Amino acid sequence: MLRDSLATIAVIVAFGLSGCVQEKQQGTSQNGNSSGGSGGSGSSSRGGFFFCDTRDLDRDSSKNLANLFSDFNKSFVAKASSNSSTLYTIPVNFHVIMKDDSAEGGDVPDESLAEQVDILNRAYSGEIGGVGTPYRFELAGINRVVNENWHSFAPGAPEETEVKKALRVGDAKTLNVFIMDILVPKGGTGKILGYSTFPFVYKMQPALDGIMLHYRAVPGSDLDHYNAGHVLVHESGHWLGLLHTFTGACDGLFTDLVSDTPREKTPTRGNYCPTNLDSCPSNPGLDPIHNHMTYTGDECRTEFTSGQVSFMKFNTMIFRGLK
Ligand SMILES: [Zn+2]
Repeated sequence: MLRDSLATIAVIVAFGLSGCVQEKQQGTSQNGNSSGGSGGSGSSSRGGFFFCDTRDLDRDSSKNLANLFSDFNKSFVAKASSNSSTLYTIPVNFHVIMKDDSAEGGDVPDESLAEQVDILNRAYSGEIGGVGTPYRFELAGINRVVNENWHSFAPGAPEETEVKKALRVGDAKTLNVFIMDILVPKGGTGKILGYSTFPFVYKMQPALDGIMLHYRAVPGSDLDHYNAGHVLVHESGHWLGLLHTFTGACDGLFTDLVSDTPREKTPTRGNYCPTNLDSCPSNPGLDPIHNHMTYTGDECRTEFTSGQVSFMKFNTMIFRGLK
């Protein structure tokens, strides 16, 4: 009964997100570049790179999701889940989309991709900091494609749909990572490190599920501060349901829907690991600079919180069918 009502609400939430999804598909942005995306939460340029184009939710969708999460937390499913030590192993399929088979053309060696999966496991097990999560990852496949048209495009370009429809494999429980050159939309300058779809839109658009990752945001690349494999930790956090820690800034009516991540006004800028930053002094806690879901450097982002684990479990149970 409760499962049925949760499923019904899940569909309502998913449909409520359609405007948000459409906006992303069009690759639009209010300020001429979609850097940092996040529905106007600000951008963070790193040597010509903007961090993440995953958009936060509009207010109605956020409210629907918060209500659903609240209902879930009262359910026997959530109680059983909080006592469970079940681990979920997620198969990871990499699709390396190259201009040519050189490193400059976008190729990424097998060793780097294997290392990337190891880094996901170290981050999600809590080995490098924060709390452990129930998620583990295993390399399921590496698919290399040489296609100049598919190698380089902006979020929401028609090529994104072509690529995903042609290459994506598996179901809601399968992580597909498309590695290519992500441009800033509308002729803006710069590149984007990555972006992801959320679990709660899977039902609407299963063929578009997955993460886009810049080919230089991988372990061992020459991109300082973003070559430790933590960009994919951040993007997979979105794929598992997490929002940015700066969602809603200091006084917004909506947040990242996680109770134990301190608020921050904007993503950090100009410093890869700023200490004692308190951009929301009227709210408890310093800025969560070590959290995987903010925009500091790879060397700084090392933690998930217990609240984020609960929110991920809710998302993956309800929307990705991980029981
Ligand atoms: Zn992000």
